[in-house]
Amino acid sequence: MWHGERARNGTGVAMDVEMLKRRRTKIVATLGPSSSDAATIEKLIAAGVNVVRLNMSHGDHEAHAQAYKELRTAAHNARNPIGVLVDLCGPKLRVGRFEGGGIDLVEGASVVVTTREVVGEAGLIASQYATLNEEIEAGARILLDDGALELRVDGVAGTEVTCTVVRGGRLKDRKGMNLPGSRLATPALTPKDIDDARFAIDLGADYLALSFVRKAQDVEDLKALLPADDPPRIIAKIEHPDALDNIDAIIDAADGIMVARGDLGVELPPEEVPVIQRRLVALARAHSKPCIVATQMLESMIEHAQPTRAEVSDVSTAVFSSADAVMLSAETASGSYPVEAVAMMDRIARQVEAHVFAERRFRAEGGDPVPAAGSSPVAEAVGVAVAQLSRDLRCRAIVVVSLGGTGATARVMSAARPGAPIVGAAATLRGMLQQSLLWGVVPRLVQPAEIEEPEELAKRVAAQLDLAGAGDRILLVKGFEQSPSITVLEV
Ligand code: PGA
Ligand code: MN
Repeated sequence: MWHGERARNGTGVAMDVEMLKRRRTKIVATLGPSSSDAATIEKLIAAGVNVVRLNMSHGDHEAHAQAYKELRTAAHNARNPIGVLVDLCGPKLRVGRFEGGGIDLVEGASVVVTTREVVGEAGLIASQYATLNEEIEAGARILLDDGALELRVDGVAGTEVTCTVVRGGRLKDRKGMNLPGSRLATPALTPKDIDDARFAIDLGADYLALSFVRKAQDVEDLKALLPADDPPRIIAKIEHPDALDNIDAIIDAADGIMVARGDLGVELPPEEVPVIQRRLVALARAHSKPCIVATQMLESMIEHAQPTRAEVSDVSTAVFSSADAVMLSAETASGSYPVEAVAMMDRIARQVEAHVFAERRFRAEGGDPVPAAGSSPVAEAVGVAVAQLSRDLRCRAIVVVSLGGTGATARVMSAARPGAPIVGAAATLRGMLQQSLLWGVVPRLVQPAEIEEPEELAKRVAAQLDLAGAGDRILLVKGFEQSPSITVLEV
């Protein structure tokens, strides 16, 4: 796609555009019935997926374990460092099942939401949230199916919550239920989440995402379940208004965030979501942590081979703002065009990146990062300086050698959004795969012995990855946290 960009910009920037052999923005794709077989996974990888999401809201452990195995095999065969993110549902409220799979709600009609364990029918909805009746009051809003349907509570009597339908339509089995403005007692980590987290840890997940995080303690509660050695990194999903009030502490506690626009746009007026998205992308970067923009990005591709122009524009907006990753949900999990959706996202990101690169604006897009409280100002300053140096010296790659194994240097280097691609050399498989989500980072597994000779290592991997040829300059950076060191090398 960037060929067009090159032609339009003339030869002056041709060399620069050519440097964009690697897409900087990462693609997360959710696996599901449409995409969990070996053949489709291979195609998703070839189309450009960087991280796959296993969504614990759907499917059983057996199906997820099978998909995980297929993914690891395919990624290994393709020699492609694909990360695995297991998404814990958190306290997502849902309705139960219905006779015949669903009911029709008519505007103005009365309907009862019950906490009794029943199968719903016309006029009766079962709540899977057992204490709904104790925590909701007359006048409250109940949004169903991502806000497509709306009820207003008229009164509560025992287990029965009587409501009037404000916005009607078809309500199907197990659709989501949001109670904007209601304070819920439910903890962020449900018994199912704890069970799913243990499953994910045993499986070998690289990331765990936690839904409906409201405060930093929610993240800490999940961290307490993690093994000391090689733990998965935690992504806090920002989809509840309370999280916005505690956002700095949440980003500090977590290893990254997700702008979960689906639920966020139900809990808050949808028109507030784009501004919040932009702020969150910048804030995560200021903390040197990755940010995923998620939900409905290419929604119409669930059913159509082509996205709408508005969706293309939405993906491009996220890429322009320098989000670390863009995510596909139902598009790849249950849609008819999973591979096409990934390929489309890849093309959109490349087009935008070629343009931003040609204008030398990677660092500036989305605003210069302001070092946040809790981040390391020395590390961040060095990161920005390295980005500047790589530009002034026209370096073809920045090779980051991870010494401690926390991947902090790669994270900080990524947050500086340099023009040159970053090679994240890590000596452990997990440490390497945990860099798969970071903007601009090409993860690379190296032998511990190779790290003893970092200069040789840097030259070799830059050449092997086809980022630099004989005579090209690269930068080697190490140890941002303790004692930063920067070396200019010629391949
Ligand atoms: P979900 O989270 O797909 O697990 O609901 C993302 C979102 O709410 O946008
Ligand atoms: Mn959600």
